[in-house]
Amino acid sequence: QQSHSHEPEFLQAVKEIIYSLKPVFAQRPEYMKMSLLERIVEPERVVKFRVAWQDDSGKVQVNRGFRVQYSSAIGPYKGGLRFHPSVNESIVKFLGFEQIFKNSLTGQPIGGAKGGSDFDPKGKSDSEIMRFCQAFMTELHKYIGPHEDVPAGDIGVGAREIGFLFGQYNRIKAAYQPGVITGKLPRFGGSLARKEATGYGTVYFVQEMLKEINESFEGQTVVVSGSGNVSTYAIEKAQQLGATVVACSDSNGFIYDPQGINLDTVKDIKEVRAARIKEYIDVHPHATYTENCNKIWTVKCDIALPCATQNEIDEQSAQLLITNGVKAIGEGANMPSTLEAINIYFKNNVLFAPAKAANAGGVAVSALEMAQNSMRLFWSFEEVDEKLQEIMINIYNNSREAAKEFGHENNLLIGANIAGFIKVADAMIAQGVI
Ligand code: NDP
Repeated sequence: QQSHSHEPEFLQAVKEIIYSLKPVFAQRPEYMKMSLLERIVEPERVVKFRVAWQDDSGKVQVNRGFRVQYSSAIGPYKGGLRFHPSVNESIVKFLGFEQIFKNSLTGQPIGGAKGGSDFDPKGKSDSEIMRFCQAFMTELHKYIGPHEDVPAGDIGVGAREIGFLFGQYNRIKAAYQPGVITGKLPRFGGSLARKEATGYGTVYFVQEMLKEINESFEGQTVVVSGSGNVSTYAIEKAQQLGATVVACSDSNGFIYDPQGINLDTVKDIKEVRAARIKEYIDVHPHATYTENCNKIWTVKCDIALPCATQNEIDEQSAQLLITNGVKAIGEGANMPSTLEAINIYFKNNVLFAPAKAANAGGVAVSALEMAQNSMRLFWSFEEVDEKLQEIMINIYNNSREAAKEFGHENNLLIGANIAGFIKVADAMIAQGVI
């Protein structure tokens, strides 16, 4: 623990897993003998590299790039790329570590990885984004491939960035290689419903959980943090299922619209104009804007869907949600609740859908994109959406059963961690000590 004290997010992710796996190690001493925990917390490979690129004024800028190839026990490395100034080794390692278990939970043959850069796409021109992506891929291409490691998007990496990264990979390889990256636009090898998958998947998962208390999204008041890819499509699906989503945010602040967020306006602001969420009140003056995104958790709601970033709900925000009567929390973002916040959910018997399980729909549809690329097929939106729903229901049931089997009934956090871990652990044992 001491040697990782400079990696707080990574330590937090590992602590959560170790606590969850205690009952597994108690029942299966062979795991202890094979040092599975010591092996799985150590990435198979970490690549760290310089990314030099030229801005529009001709000045050369330098950023740091990362790829953590965490585990290939059950399939090729798979996990997104994040472009955000906060990216460092701790963040990429926590995300890569979580990805191992999440990918295993999807039931698909994909290993765990994550990558990114401390590059900030905000305020950059399209040409600058393109030059950065080309410089990033010029180094990254050495370590990835359709059968080795298949990146995708994450914060700051959407369809535009994926297009530039993909174009550069193909140029270097002198061939069209659709299987090397997912999240591509459908017109050149992407899958329909990939864009929607993480947000929709989170809502499908929470829907299953709500059935436990004989409820659904119908008539519920929902708060969704963020207004990026995951948030937008979580809002869309929650609204389709009859909920009123009253608040969403960006890293500056949040909007509150008691009549229900108008998603067309949010999409226009975020997807078309890449502007700030506060512009919502220019179109809908009855709504309010509050500076400070963390204050979004002061808004009273039945269901909270944190879909922005790690540690966005701390102990105090969790307590506020409880005081305001929240019934369920579904994590669309990765590790959005601190360990203290999670303790508060459990103490107050709130339904809790943990990130590894609830947001696995994105990577699951990425694996479906890989399958379509290999088979040279193109499934309809409905086909992919149907498969996504099936996958989310399976993840829910498997997490629930694992929790029950290991004596923690109704604890989906422990259940998801155990179900994800056992498959990888058994594969590691079967493949010998490597
Ligand atoms: P986007 O870049 O599309 O959107 C991120 C959103 O979160 C933006 O609204 C952004 O606001 C906000 N945000 C970012 N950083 C902060 C911060 N420090 N504090 C408050 N708000 C912040 O990213 P995604 O929607 O793709 O990702 C969101 C989360 O979901 C991440 O945790 C990601 O790892 C996770 N995830 C994403 C998947 C995917 O398929 N995209 C799959 C599984 C998990 P602003 O515009 O101001 O930066």
